[in-house]
Amino acid sequence: MRQSHLFTKTRREAPKDEVAKNAQLLIRAGYIHKEMAGAYSFLPLGLRVRDNIIRVIREEINAIGGQEIKMTALQSPALWKKSGRWEDGAIDVWFKTQLKDGGELGLATTHEEPLTSLLTEYIQSYKDLPKYVYQFQLKFRNELRAKSGIMRCREFVMKDLYSFNRTEEEFREFYEKCAEAYKKIFARVGIGEKTHRVFASGGSFSKFSDEFQTICDAGEDIIYVHKEKNIAVNKEVYTDEVLKDLGVSKDEFEEKKAIEVGNIFPLGTKYSEALGLTYKDEKGVDTPVIMGSYGIGPGRVMGTVVELLSDAKGIVWPKEIAPFAVHLVSITGGNQDVVAEADRLYELLRENGIEVLYDDRDARAGEKFADSDLIGIPTRLVVSEKSMSQGSIECTARVDGTTTMIGDSDIVARLSK
Ligand code: ATP
Ligand code: MG
Repeated sequence: MRQSHLFTKTRREAPKDEVAKNAQLLIRAGYIHKEMAGAYSFLPLGLRVRDNIIRVIREEINAIGGQEIKMTALQSPALWKKSGRWEDGAIDVWFKTQLKDGGELGLATTHEEPLTSLLTEYIQSYKDLPKYVYQFQLKFRNELRAKSGIMRCREFVMKDLYSFNRTEEEFREFYEKCAEAYKKIFARVGIGEKTHRVFASGGSFSKFSDEFQTICDAGEDIIYVHKEKNIAVNKEVYTDEVLKDLGVSKDEFEEKKAIEVGNIFPLGTKYSEALGLTYKDEKGVDTPVIMGSYGIGPGRVMGTVVELLSDAKGIVWPKEIAPFAVHLVSITGGNQDVVAEADRLYELLRENGIEVLYDDRDARAGEKFADSDLIGIPTRLVVSEKSMSQGSIECTARVDGTTTMIGDSDIVARLSK
């Protein structure tokens, strides 16, 4: 894409009311636009990053047997009354609205009830199970505090996966598979080393649930990490009783701030019983389906990457989720030969399937480099009179600033690696 065609521009300052580093940088670089507290629009560069995160999640969830759907975000109170979750006392972040004919509607905070109800039409016998269903769909939550940029929004996309099993063993086997898939996802998007699987409250469903928490000062959660034993525990279950259970004592645990980037939750038969999702077992007995739910917020992951990996100059994207692989920058000084050479290189890269943002704007070198650092594409190529005279192209890695000169004929091979 030619940068001169991009409708967004970088800006020096983020809006005054924006306090989160992730949103400040993403707004300044033109990835997102703040509509109001907790509500952001994703602009061309931002959508590419979020779509890349979604692609990674989709690949790993498909690999463990997930089937993708997209449900409506409008929800019927009748289903939620069956499970007892329509009342604000049960879910305190509901956005509810009125229909013109007098009825009420909910805007989705999550999708257990409607999906469980949907599956009653397809699950009848033990032969119909297990099933694993997921979506990338909007969630609306009337969050009290929305000060963490795109990490805590009032409207956000969630990957929500739901498992439907016959036995506890079958459920646990999938649960562990999903935990492994999550590890792969967080490693691929660049936050694997700082992300821990954490014991958290299982609510009324089971003793524990599992959260995936990324250690970061911008986090809203407190976790305790035991490095040697590789155990981490959320503050909400950090009690003597639980630690005894886990066979560890309070002294190292180390206290850390962390961001919950994903979670997995045993649901037991609460929703299947409430909504009538049963199957006939091998003896013909009606049995409630055992469920689990598994969430990841791609926007929260994107915000976490920015919080963790950015530097004083701007954002530093890991390759897998960067909006483009290469930022091609031309420093022409009005020299039409340099323009032609940069145009040629742009076409060459595109013909070879390399995604490239081409800064073809008529702007000063300093401005172009500052913008390039802010935008944070992993590899920068500079075409200038100097590079042309040397028959090579200057290649700089955003992550550490190392620069190498690459011979013109090697460029495609080097970048395709
Ligand atoms: P939190 O305790 O941080 O509010 P949660 O327990 O409400 O999170 P879930 O309802 O299980 O989280 O949502 C699953 C995933 O969706 C979370 O792990 C997170 O990645 C993402 N998520 C949750 N709330 C938000 C939000 N307000 N904005 C963006 N992403 C969110
Ligand atoms: Mg929440």
